[in-house]
Amino acid sequence: MNMAKSRVLIVDDDAALLQALPQAIALRLPEVAVDTAKSALEALKCAKACEYDAIVSDIKMPGMDGLALIEHLHKLYPDIPTILITGHGERELAIQALRVGAYDFIQKPIDRDYFIAALQRAMQKHHMSKQIAQQQQELEQYLASLEQTVAERTHELVEANAAKDVFISMASHELKTPLTTLKGMAQMLLKRVERGYDIELRNVQLLENAVHRMEVLVDDLLNTSLLETGMFALHRQQHDVVQCCRDLKAEYGNEMGELLILDIVTPKLICNIDQERIGQVLLNLLSNARKYSPANSPVTIRVESRDTEAVISVIDRGVGIDARHLNRIFERFYRAPGIDVQSGANSGVGLGLYITQKIIERHQGRIIVSSTPGQGSTFCVHLPLAAEKLHSDKKKHNSVQVKE
Ligand code: ADP
Repeated sequence: MNMAKSRVLIVDDDAALLQALPQAIALRLPEVAVDTAKSALEALKCAKACEYDAIVSDIKMPGMDGLALIEHLHKLYPDIPTILITGHGERELAIQALRVGAYDFIQKPIDRDYFIAALQRAMQKHHMSKQIAQQQQELEQYLASLEQTVAERTHELVEANAAKDVFISMASHELKTPLTTLKGMAQMLLKRVERGYDIELRNVQLLENAVHRMEVLVDDLLNTSLLETGMFALHRQQHDVVQCCRDLKAEYGNEMGELLILDIVTPKLICNIDQERIGQVLLNLLSNARKYSPANSPVTIRVESRDTEAVISVIDRGVGIDARHLNRIFERFYRAPGIDVQSGANSGVGLGLYITQKIIERHQGRIIVSSTPGQGSTFCVHLPLAAEKLHSDKKKHNSVQVKE
């Protein structure tokens, strides 16, 4: 065992022994430091000031004797091994010393080899109990951190489970409404046919609306489930996001006419995207802009480059969103209270923006919303520009602006 940095205390009122014992230690165990004390009181002072690996005390000393000292030391420092030196034949005293906590005893006349061996054993015992205490402390810390991790994971699981329950209950609730409409309409149409009446076009349209609503909902639920199970696949390719915006305008231009304004600040912006998914994102933002704006209100889609990103902004002049709800609208099933659908056929279920944000994040992009209640909202989609196109495109299309 490495005795370096070990320190022992020898206590004796006999000056000869107080010199002889440290000499013996210096000779056999040169790496061990030795302190001496001439009385029990002095020994207690030393023990208070320094942590010893062993304390050796003679039994007979004026004032407090060795036995009382050992009892004291054992109470104050139970981990420090003590050795009592007794007179020849003082077996009773030796046994008493062991009873009050001494680790060992040595009888006079002192055999040096025996003394050194006993001292080494005592120091070893101290080192080992220190090591064990340290390991125990480390184990306890590890156990505490394990317990903490288990508690955290359990909490997460409980929360995930509760979220799943909410999800299932919301999903079934949302599915039930159009399903009830469908069932009622189908039964009513069946009765009319059985009785030989004509089927009104309006009723078939209602039927189709309910089916459409279910279709949208099932798509949203499927996308959400794919996103949450990590199975939402992206097929990314270099593609011009300005073209995505043009495609959107082509698709909705007829329906919205002049109300849909495409503001192209940078004519070509190549990004590494899943064209279909980014189309889905833009369509969702556009249909929200329409849903939450008066029927004759214009919507602008602006597309431009900013630093290393393509930024597509969908700007409406609709009802806007109160600041209290702004950071919650991307949560699953969150619908800002008190906002009614202004135009368009279907009110949503609060999954659109959740899916939109996830798709954008999967493209290493981000979506930022700013809104003023009563004045309108702007949703900005930031997508990283494809690296190799960055430099040349920036140079070419710096200050071109086209309104379509
Ligand atoms: P929903 O299907 O209800 O439209 P979304 O996830 O698309 O769900 O949107 C969540 C909520 O955010 C909406 O219910 C609405 O309260 C608010 N919201 C989204 N887009 C707009 C917008 N352009 N103007 C005002 N409110 C909006």
